[in-house]
Amino acid sequence: MTEVRLNAVQKRFGAFTAIESIDLDIKSGELVALLGPSGCGKTTTLRMIAGLEAPTKGEVLFDGHDVSDVAVQKRNVGMVFQRYALFPHMTVEKNVTFGLDVRGLPKKEISERLEEILEVVQLNKFRKRFPAQLSGGQMQRVAIARTLITKPSVLMMDEPLANLDTKLRGEMRRFIRDLQKRLGITTIFVTHDQVEAMELADRVAVIFNGKLAQFGAPQELYQQPNSTEVADFMGASNIFSAKLVAADRAETSFGTIDIMSQPGLKPGNDVYVMLRSEGIDLYPESEAPQGAQNLISGKIKAREFFGASVQYVVGAGEDITVAEQSRRLLDVGQPVVLSVQPDRVWTIAR
Ligand code: ATP
Repeated sequence: MTEVRLNAVQKRFGAFTAIESIDLDIKSGELVALLGPSGCGKTTTLRMIAGLEAPTKGEVLFDGHDVSDVAVQKRNVGMVFQRYALFPHMTVEKNVTFGLDVRGLPKKEISERLEEILEVVQLNKFRKRFPAQLSGGQMQRVAIARTLITKPSVLMMDEPLANLDTKLRGEMRRFIRDLQKRLGITTIFVTHDQVEAMELADRVAVIFNGKLAQFGAPQELYQQPNSTEVADFMGASNIFSAKLVAADRAETSFGTIDIMSQPGLKPGNDVYVMLRSEGIDLYPESEAPQGAQNLISGKIKAREFFGASVQYVVGAGEDITVAEQSRRLLDVGQPVVLSVQPDRVWTIAR
């Protein structure tokens, strides 16, 4: 198990700065996702950790040792890419052992490791097949097995599920998650999909424009984003300008609401308040609860039905999105009252 640390790592390609200065601390055995929009620098960061790209400044440390000048072959990292690049003329077995065959490991050791790894990735039944006879998910498992058989101390995956359909992606996510927990191998996973990052990772590093925007557990990024950009990327819909009139009260265009006070934010501060769409209770006007906190009156402007859930846009000075289970359906035009608990309002400095 290996701990990975980036110390003020910067990467320039000529005059272009791909990574400004990133600090990242990945614990031994942790699964970390590098998440961000296309071109933000995820792959470049991964390649620097792997040793495929040298940082312009800063250092990459494995277990406290500076490996910035250590070649990729010597870093003992395993890589899985979006394109599996399996050898079409070789069976599953041969594809998996190829790396060890080339290194000239003793036959006995190779066959022992093969049995172990085929078991782990559940490919025993398919060992004599050729890649063309496998499904996308099975090919992906061959690619993972081929990497794991080399016993890497760090596993790197660059959008490994991008070629799979939605259902298979879900299955492969769970497979990778279970495998990683079982083996306890430090894993760094690149994705531009926030749902994938949240489902898989212990912690997520959000990267925007070559800078680390936030690094934290999925719930933390989702519930407590440190900027509106992170909130937006994590799928937040209700972010409104407000002004603090007390440490725990914010004036908005839909009224003054109670919020949870947050360290560093003071009365008079201009802020954003974020109301999670699933954290808001919605009532027909006639059923509005007495004495509930933060009551906001409005009218339903739009309704989107997703089967198990339904999403409403409520006009209330601002358009507020509310998501709830579709046990009942309210109509467009219907007057409603919203209520939101103060601990479900997150405040971001402006
Ligand atoms: P994607 O999700 O599209 O793969 P990414 O976040 O992985 O994007 P990177 O591949 O790390 O992004 O690229 C970051 C930036 O660095 C991009 O603007 C890219 O064009 C630039 N870049 C990457 N490699 C090189 C290179 N070898 N020479 C010049 N610019 C590069």
